[in-house]
Amino acid sequence: MRLSQYFLPVLKETPKEAQIASHRLMLRAGMIQQSSAGIYSWLPLGKRVLDKISNIVREEQERSGALEILMPTIQPAEIWQESGRYDDYGAEMLRVTDRHDRAMLFGPTNEEQVTDIFRSHVRSYKSLPLNLYHIQWKFRDEVRPRFGIMRGREFLMKDAYSFDLDADGARKAYNKMFVSYLKTFARMGLTAIPMEADTGPIGGDMSHEFIILAETGESGVYFHKDWLQADLLADIDYASDLQPFVDKFISIYARADEKHDPDNCPVSDLDLMTMRGIEIGHIFYFGAKYSAAMGANVSGPDGKIVPVHMGSYGIGVSRLVGGIIEASHDDKGIIWPDSVAPFGVAVVNLKPGDKICDKTCETLYSDLIETSADPLLDDRDERPGAKLAAMDLIGIPWQIVVGPRGMQNSVVEVKRRKTGETFEVSPSEALKLVSNVA
Ligand code: ATP
Ligand code: MG
Repeated sequence: MRLSQYFLPVLKETPKEAQIASHRLMLRAGMIQQSSAGIYSWLPLGKRVLDKISNIVREEQERSGALEILMPTIQPAEIWQESGRYDDYGAEMLRVTDRHDRAMLFGPTNEEQVTDIFRSHVRSYKSLPLNLYHIQWKFRDEVRPRFGIMRGREFLMKDAYSFDLDADGARKAYNKMFVSYLKTFARMGLTAIPMEADTGPIGGDMSHEFIILAETGESGVYFHKDWLQADLLADIDYASDLQPFVDKFISIYARADEKHDPDNCPVSDLDLMTMRGIEIGHIFYFGAKYSAAMGANVSGPDGKIVPVHMGSYGIGVSRLVGGIIEASHDDKGIIWPDSVAPFGVAVVNLKPGDKICDKTCETLYSDLIETSADPLLDDRDERPGAKLAAMDLIGIPWQIVVGPRGMQNSVVEVKRRKTGETFEVSPSEALKLVSNVA
């Protein structure tokens, strides 16, 4: 992408309305634009990151065996009346009426919709296990939308729904999602801590929230200091028995403050850490809550007809954009992990119009396109300082800076955004450097 032909409305001033780093930086980097409270447009740079994150989520869902569908944003009220949640959901639900006076709603979540799909087609345990997911916009009329896209009213969520014959099968489905979440977040450079969460009105159910640590997080969290060791995230095959693996994680203490009881905490004061965190995912096993209410039944091997066991598994895809920035930025701007960066490398031409600089940049740019490094060429007619500051602000992992002084010795400067390290190398060595690590 050539920056001269791109739409990157960076802001020089710090926006006053933004209270936390990620919100400030997303506005300054021209990633989002507020439409109304808690509702945002995603501009080109932001959309790229949102797509990168969605794709990592999608890949790990597919690897775990879940199947992608796409359910609508607008749902009929009837299915929510069947489950009993139409009245329970309260003011967070955006209710609309169509021209025929039918009650509709903008989905805050999709348990009812997916249960309706399931009951229309599945009759036998032979079609199980089944896990259907989608990545779709949700609407919740939050009382206090804030922190930009972190707590929005309209937000992008990945939600998966598992169907099993019995509790044992449902547990396996739960474990798969548990592991897939750890892998998903690790690929984004995040250590997400699964915390036992409230299980709601039905006893015996399981639920975990996945929380990343950040000073600006909305939840207070307590956890054993072992969680700070990243090597807990060993690789694992979905086909193997995941129970021991999941047990190992669950055995390391971690609770959000509403579930932490200081008088009954198994961890010594010395080992207990307390910090703030951001909830980026939530998994839930709720058995037959919706299937029983909505008549989603299957026959088992013994011929008995039973309501199917379900679980639901959410990831805050748009919230993750902010979460990653909270976890990875400095006073100059965003520091994208390679896996979600909007562009892999920036080629900065310090002197457009200078023959050698132009030629070197063009060659680097087309070579980088060849190697799929997804380059951004800063070919704008701007002050060098402003260009370098913009690249730091938008957080591109590698910068190759081409200026007339270096060109006298046929060298360019390669900068790693994360560490600030710089290397003076020939253009061909620069190519190798950024392609090997990225
Ligand atoms: P929270 O406690 O933050 O309101 P929740 O328990 O209501 O979250 P779920 O219904 O489990 O959230 O939704 C799944 C995921 O969607 C959450 O883990 C979170 O990452 C994301 N999410 C929920 N509400 C919002 C919101 N208003 N804005 C952005 N992301 C959200
Ligand atoms: Mg909520």
